[in-house]
Amino acid sequence: MDKVAELKKLELEIAKDKSLPLQEANLVFGEGSPDCQVLFIGEAPGFNEDEQKRPFVGKAGQLLRKNIRNIGWQERDVYITNIVKRRPPENRDPNEEEIEKYKPYLARQIDIISPRVIVPLGRFSMNYFLPVAKITRDQGKLFNTDKYFILPMLHPAAALRGTTAMEMFENTFKKLPAALDKVMTGKSDEEKPTERPGKQQRVEDIQKRLF
Ligand code: URA
Repeated sequence: MDKVAELKKLELEIAKDKSLPLQEANLVFGEGSPDCQVLFIGEAPGFNEDEQKRPFVGKAGQLLRKNIRNIGWQERDVYITNIVKRRPPENRDPNEEEIEKYKPYLARQIDIISPRVIVPLGRFSMNYFLPVAKITRDQGKLFNTDKYFILPMLHPAAALRGTTAMEMFENTFKKLPAALDKVMTGKSDEEKPTERPGKQQRVEDIQKRLF
């Protein structure tokens, strides 16, 4: 089965799984190229995303998409999704139970797409891959979990809240093509999550969490 068919099958499975939380909201599965090299992962859909059944289409999404175009890439060449695939009420943060329940589906979605670099947007998504990382300290660093290269960024909604955060977000974004290039050519000088014992999670633990 090709990737498009596999993703469609997965989407239908999620749609049919009535044990998943947030059933009252629409399913926002994700969009983009299944053959992408870079996968962006946010937290959960908001009001606009729920209405349009598309990820990152509100204000934060427009900022994300503008930055993708600013580095010379096309939105259709990357893939954009969320950990939690339905909108939590009142746009609140997704809770632990919601993240846990949707996690196996995200894991399968990532496996099908098999991107070279994953960009978690914000701390919820970052902590899924790097459980003890801190977003302001670790955003913009390239991590190698042995399964994936991870380049965490601030959530674009956080970037919209202040000039410093916006600068951080945009500067990290500009690093993305070079980071991908290094990964593709095998010349990455990425951080190893084991390098700071006691602070960074061990690689094995991260891998266990990944899948
Ligand atoms: N914020 C997210 O984390 N995801 C979206 O799809 C929209 C806003």
